[in-house]
Amino acid sequence: MAEKIRNFIGGKWVDSVRGLTFESRNPADTCELLGLIPDSDAVDVDKAVTAARAAFPAWRDTPAPKRGEILYRAAELLVKRKDTLGELVCREMGKILSESMGDVQEAIDMTYYMAGEGRRLSGETVPSELPYKDAKSVRLPIGVFALITPWNFPTAIPSWKITPALIAGNTVVFKPAEETPIAATHLVEIFDEAGLPPGVLNLVHGYGETAGEPLVRHPDVDGVSFTGSNEVGERLAGICGSTHKDFMMETGGKNPIIVMDDADLDLAIEGALWGGFGTTGQRCTASSRLIIQEGIFDQFLKTFTVRASQLRIGNGLDPETEIGPVISDIQYQKILKYIETGKGEGATLILGGRAYEKGDCANGLFIEPTMFVDVRPKMRIAQEEIFGPVVSLFRVRDLTEAIEVANDVTFGLSAAIYSKDVNKTAIAERDLDTGLVYINASTIGAEIQLPFGGTKRTGLGPREAGGRGGALNLYTKWKVIYRDFSGTLQKAQIDN
Ligand code: ADP
Repeated sequence: MAEKIRNFIGGKWVDSVRGLTFESRNPADTCELLGLIPDSDAVDVDKAVTAARAAFPAWRDTPAPKRGEILYRAAELLVKRKDTLGELVCREMGKILSESMGDVQEAIDMTYYMAGEGRRLSGETVPSELPYKDAKSVRLPIGVFALITPWNFPTAIPSWKITPALIAGNTVVFKPAEETPIAATHLVEIFDEAGLPPGVLNLVHGYGETAGEPLVRHPDVDGVSFTGSNEVGERLAGICGSTHKDFMMETGGKNPIIVMDDADLDLAIEGALWGGFGTTGQRCTASSRLIIQEGIFDQFLKTFTVRASQLRIGNGLDPETEIGPVISDIQYQKILKYIETGKGEGATLILGGRAYEKGDCANGLFIEPTMFVDVRPKMRIAQEEIFGPVVSLFRVRDLTEAIEVANDVTFGLSAAIYSKDVNKTAIAERDLDTGLVYINASTIGAEIQLPFGGTKRTGLGPREAGGRGGALNLYTKWKVIYRDFSGTLQKAQIDN
């Protein structure tokens, strides 16, 4: 039964003003219609921003620990609904059920964590250089935030943005990905039930150009947090720069796993399978490049190919499935095209490379796990983010060359090294130019209590997640307060 989904504006569930809708379908079986979604435009966006603006003063003045209590309740509701929400994520986004549950678990973790930050939104108190004077900094909310999210983590990524924005005292207009609107709606329902005042969290569904961009451009929006493609991120960065909006973006990755000759081979293969093909390669931290030292290369290749060819493709609701579908027909076509590009560039396809349509997969968007060798670092498949189950293998002489190849991309999100030599891992830790480095673990699996994000073209602005070292630096602004209680004119830098 298709759900009728609505926008959530000023505490009310409403259709889009022009009454248009679009569909959300199950990528594992595109015959399954999951819901009809409001196709909103600038008029709906304006109503949502107006509601968020009206709600801001009272929410800003609500003590942060009280805001935290509402987040605690939301986290508890998320725990109660984890199974149903996880199943919905699986149906709507396609990733296998255990990963879909993990998505919701991350939202739970983030919500509890940010609830606690309500009692820790600390600034600094430092000595003044003058007597009878004190000096401190405090964090203040910024105002109305536009939060724009992608489809690959339908509840986790929204929680990375919604919870720090709210705990800091901002109000929010949330525009989720058009591919996963139902999961976003159920998430917002939970925050509403947890007791958020009307207008504090608003939800507007729609497409990027017709709903997302008017939201970013809206003059009453003070800040924007965006996760998605690099092209859109850079475009929005330009808009926000020229209109003085606070901004952060998290975009692509081309994440390497380095495997040295002395690595635990079985462990490295497990990590590369998980990083390369987990979530069907649709994580921004997916391990799309495997950089293998020459002494272990042939053995790695042989075992990895066998293991990858045995991965079970299918509907994520089936507990046997290891690789689900890709999200949409657009992505499906894009990935198949990249595979043709790789072949055209002279890389050798040694596994997969085709759509998978057997049995129950006939109506879904499935692609076989795909591997290329003879990949040169400057090829497009070695440089561009494919966002599908496609990995490229590179043979390198030594650690120096491995790090060179690893860093030779414009992205810098995540990197991993497998080696038993503590000195080699320490050098990699120092020299890999990425926001996240894993030692003897895959490139995926960041935890919410530390900042998440990357270098180079991957990101811009403060990091996601984490606490006062991460997201809260986006959602708060500093105010510095000097108080002089000497009763005389004291001149800093002059009278001391
Ligand atoms: P993907 O290719 O992963 O779907 P996008 O960058 O196209 O990445 O989409 C990520 C999010 O950005 C989605 O919520 C989408 O609707 C939104 N979006 C796309 N284009 C724009 C735009 N021009 N302005 C604002 N938001 C946009």
